[in-house]
Amino acid sequence: MSSNRSPRPETIVLHAGHRGDPNTGSVAVPIHQTTSYQFRDTEHASNLFALSELGNIYTRIMNPTQAVFEDRMAALEGGVAGLALASGQAATAFSLQNVAHAGDNVVSSTDLYGGTWNLFANTLKDQGIEVRFVDPADPENFRRAIDDRTRAFYAETLPNPKLHVFPIREVADIGREYGIPLIMDNTAAPLICRPLDHGAAVVMYSTTKYIGGHGTSIGGLLIDGGNFDWEAFPERQPYLNRPDPSYHGAVWTEAVKPLGPIAYIIKARTTLLRDLGAATTPMNAFLFLQGLETLPLRMERHNANAAAVADFLNGHARVAKTIYPGLMVGEERRRADAYLDGGYGALVGFELAGGREAGRKFIDALELLFHVANIGDARSLAIHPATTTHSQLSQEEQAATGVTPGYVRLSIGLEHIDDILADLDQALAAAG
Ligand code: PLP
Repeated sequence: MSSNRSPRPETIVLHAGHRGDPNTGSVAVPIHQTTSYQFRDTEHASNLFALSELGNIYTRIMNPTQAVFEDRMAALEGGVAGLALASGQAATAFSLQNVAHAGDNVVSSTDLYGGTWNLFANTLKDQGIEVRFVDPADPENFRRAIDDRTRAFYAETLPNPKLHVFPIREVADIGREYGIPLIMDNTAAPLICRPLDHGAAVVMYSTTKYIGGHGTSIGGLLIDGGNFDWEAFPERQPYLNRPDPSYHGAVWTEAVKPLGPIAYIIKARTTLLRDLGAATTPMNAFLFLQGLETLPLRMERHNANAAAVADFLNGHARVAKTIYPGLMVGEERRRADAYLDGGYGALVGFELAGGREAGRKFIDALELLFHVANIGDARSLAIHPATTTHSQLSQEEQAATGVTPGYVRLSIGLEHIDDILADLDQALAAAG
């Protein structure tokens, strides 16, 4: 684009990172189904390995189809570079392993996807990385949990089931005082929130959800905001500031300087992805690019349909409580309005007055909504956490996460709103 103005999201998702294939003119991004890439000559090969030139070496570490997806997502989020990975779980793990080693710790919000909770409370713990969980209702809880070995803060923008929007700016500002980056899982809020604009340093996605949009592919992504001064805190961020024995002694903040402020993401790619191998596939990157093209249109419909569902549930005789950011009051509403722009997302929770048994009956009566452990599909989805995702937890633990026996989570899709409401209405009637 010739003017200085940045293109809008609707344009970015169609154009960023690809203007016709240089070899064929192909307008659609080609699927580069290859493992490896012919080096021009030995000098070219050694430049690529030395990182003095960026280019393709091997598809475990990079691929041209994936590169367009990464660039497009980075442009959409206002970041400087992306890294596509095999799953959201891999992206979360890498986001922290990139800055925290055994003996270090991370401070995380308690309001997390269950898979993230398991990763933090068990697998990262087994690797010697302690995750300290704090209640985000008071941002100062993050400051209180910091010590000399705290390497990162972690949170979700729009965490379910509570759907309390995270205080991004408040916590990012605390972190920046100490050289601690805030890593935000923005899976549930693409386009309606850009965490980097509010001070986050890194954005993480499960692209499995809205980015793909069609429930076909598992994927994850990290985006480097390029807005965090890693070099200013050498003690706090040792792995980006001291020689890395896993890459012939490279000091990432130094080595990557000629390529831009992308030390964090290059390190993740050239060490973690190289060694642990959680690579995505060219085919999945292609499918995510297809999904991304319609994301702005889909989010408009997700937002509008979910708002209509929340209105319908709110005040319904069989519904004890509706959980939706647009219906919240006080500080929770203030945060929702401060950080979400253009809608409150597709997620709507509600508590059935009839409790656990009513939850089961409601789910079993659904005819249109799918009963699945997923969100962000073009189709509307429902789940009863007490008998599925949260069934391993005690009632007290369930309550702490915001799940009551009659709680149902909906991810509202793109069907006609009349059909969605008709199905909810008949299932509510059946719930008794
Ligand atoms: N983060 C959030 C908010 C999620 O909802 C999920 C999956 O449900 C993940 C991360 C993990 O992503 P994936 O299933 O792609 O590994």
